[in-house]
Amino acid sequence: MDARDLLAHDLGHGQVDDLDTAPPLSLLTVLSQRSGIELDRLRCMTIVGWVPWLLDSLDDQIPTALETYAFQCSVLLPRHKRKIRTVARWRAWLPRQPVDRACPICLNDPADQAILLAWKLPLMLSCPQHGCWLESYWGVPGRFLRWENTDPSPRAASEAITAMDRRTWQAMTTGYVELPRRRIHAGLWFRMLRTLLDELNTPLSTCGTYAGYIRHVWEGCGYPVRAGQSLWRPYETLDPAVRLQMLEAAATAIHLNESRVISPPGEHAKLFWSEPQTGFTNGLPVKERKQEPIDYGQEVVKVITEAVAEARHNPETARSLFALAAYGKRDPESLERLRDEFAKEGIPPEFLSHYEPDGPFTCRKISDWLSDEF
Ligand SMILES: [Zn+2]
Repeated sequence: MDARDLLAHDLGHGQVDDLDTAPPLSLLTVLSQRSGIELDRLRCMTIVGWVPWLLDSLDDQIPTALETYAFQCSVLLPRHKRKIRTVARWRAWLPRQPVDRACPICLNDPADQAILLAWKLPLMLSCPQHGCWLESYWGVPGRFLRWENTDPSPRAASEAITAMDRRTWQAMTTGYVELPRRRIHAGLWFRMLRTLLDELNTPLSTCGTYAGYIRHVWEGCGYPVRAGQSLWRPYETLDPAVRLQMLEAAATAIHLNESRVISPPGEHAKLFWSEPQTGFTNGLPVKERKQEPIDYGQEVVKVITEAVAEARHNPETARSLFALAAYGKRDPESLERLRDEFAKEGIPPEFLSHYEPDGPFTCRKISDWLSDEF
């Protein structure tokens, strides 16, 4: 019995299309009862389970959604240099047409022909495990599959691409990304990446003296400026081939910025630079100064106190702190006790309503899992 038949005949659910996006709670509840897998874990196998980290909402009727998501960060251009756009019916990262791309090495594994849910979004160019390009295919993996490129040998992706995709993968699987300056929250990584994609698609005539940064990046990856686009459209609705060039340009921009070939004026560009050198010397030999020993216990207390203070008004910090405190705790009683302790510290309980005990995302698709488990 395949997933479609199982859903329609056994579980009374006729639509398989929404299974990976936003399956109804009633269906997930039945699946959870039948399989013994917790509801939270099942939710993480769907895109709605990635709200609010990967995207703010699945509602496509919010007129300011794009502005909120992609116009608050800045990397290549100063913030005021981009014209704020409003688009009807927009959702971050969700393309109009499904993306059918997969890793040829992963798909050759007879034991587990994995198609990750993340590959269904225009988010990564390479396989985080094998470092090769994701390739377009037709058909249904496991039953019938044909690669669009007739040569099936895997193509190694460039260092710039694998570096960007490793960070995206770290965001999806751990909830944070290690950048040279500091560790950032996964939510900020996805918004910064989406910002960068929009900056690379900004008409040069509106960029003034900053147009050079955009031009430099496009020259660096060997494609025409804005991947040849003349009209502005949001990234999600661009032609799939154009989106691939945009993502490659984003990887190139990060690489050029990180290696300080360019030093763009956006406030988030600095996250990719290592700490600035502090202290100047006058050329005379430096006298040895006695180092005070660091009291790590006191440092930890200070960090936690600061995090609790921030968590009182910042839902993201509250969730991260809760995830840290709940590490290894799976039973509802322990989690409830922890919620009470957080409430006593003045952290609003509604900040923790989306907490998933299994970490940010489980990256399998629910439709694959269904065919494996039943
Ligand atoms: Zn792979």
